[in-house]
Amino acid sequence: MRWMYGRSIIDPAQMTDLSVGLRAALATTVETELPRVKKLQRATDGTLKWLLDVGGGQEIETVYIPEPRRGTLCISSQAGCAMDCSFCATGKQGFNRNLTAAEIIGQIIVARRALDSQTAAIGISNVVFMGMGEPLANLREVAEVCDLLTDDFGLALSRRRVTVSTCGLVPQIARLAKLTNVALAVSLHASEDELRDELVPINRRHPIGELLAACWNYASETRSREITFEYVMLDGVNDTPADASQLAGLLAGKPAKVNLIPFNSFPGTIYQRSPQRVIDDFRQALLDRGIIAITRRTRGDDIDAACGQLAGSIDNRVLRPMAQRSIHTVTHS
Ligand code: SAH
Repeated sequence: MRWMYGRSIIDPAQMTDLSVGLRAALATTVETELPRVKKLQRATDGTLKWLLDVGGGQEIETVYIPEPRRGTLCISSQAGCAMDCSFCATGKQGFNRNLTAAEIIGQIIVARRALDSQTAAIGISNVVFMGMGEPLANLREVAEVCDLLTDDFGLALSRRRVTVSTCGLVPQIARLAKLTNVALAVSLHASEDELRDELVPINRRHPIGELLAACWNYASETRSREITFEYVMLDGVNDTPADASQLAGLLAGKPAKVNLIPFNSFPGTIYQRSPQRVIDDFRQALLDRGIIAITRRTRGDDIDAACGQLAGSIDNRVLRPMAQRSIHTVTHS
């Protein structure tokens, strides 16, 4: 583990202080290849985005967001996503498969190797499962990665610096609490079921009341300070003062904070970003009700690296007529 996570060396042949026998044994038991880097882009704000090949024509993306006092790596947990949220580019691509723990941790090693070569970089202080995919739909592998991220022989990150974000797979939230105690973020985006059913289709199966109950349980079982609620600001859809007031009603007095995300556009979307003044008023309305709320600064949007813009090429295996048709043109022509 020191070789792999301390020095980013994953090929046992290079672990020169291990016995030849142990190196040979490791070569047959550990994944010795990293996802292949197809492209590395740098945004004007310093955000980095890797396009990685995970075999079989599937591509995933990983994003590094440098800030003055922290460096956040945003990793993918699936090739594509089956959740089909109406405002998300990844969802529009369809779903191919879960990533293995090795492919998920591999993103971190790839990024670290690149960052190690830049002397000024702060490195990776935080890891968020906010790239492509729904992490709780790949719970076993994701939980294993959380263990590695917080293990002293792994990345040795504090549990508060590792965040799993979910669109609301309620039964898996309870299971996550049994497996780890990392920070939880929930993509709420609406304060009443009718609208959330439309924006985040999993809500039809697990409505807001059930979701919030699971969140408060997670917070108490894992002794978390608070759950982060992500709320994408969609012009004229979920951004009125009444929406803010309803949201405040759901979260007041609970271990909750709100992360407002200005909507990031992508080709073919029907949505628009709320005007800055509307976002500011929404935030102020939450603050006035005693709810911690921050507006997430948009990062890396000039290279399509911002929230909801990640979309490597995916061979969609979910039968969704529109997506399926465009994929076929790509793979078979
Ligand atoms: N599937 C998980 C992890 C994705 S995290 C989840 O849903 O939480 C990515 C975050 O960006 C989520 O909160 C997602 O809802 C949000 N997002 C998706 N599309 C977006 C867009 N176009 N603009 C801004 N935020 C978006």
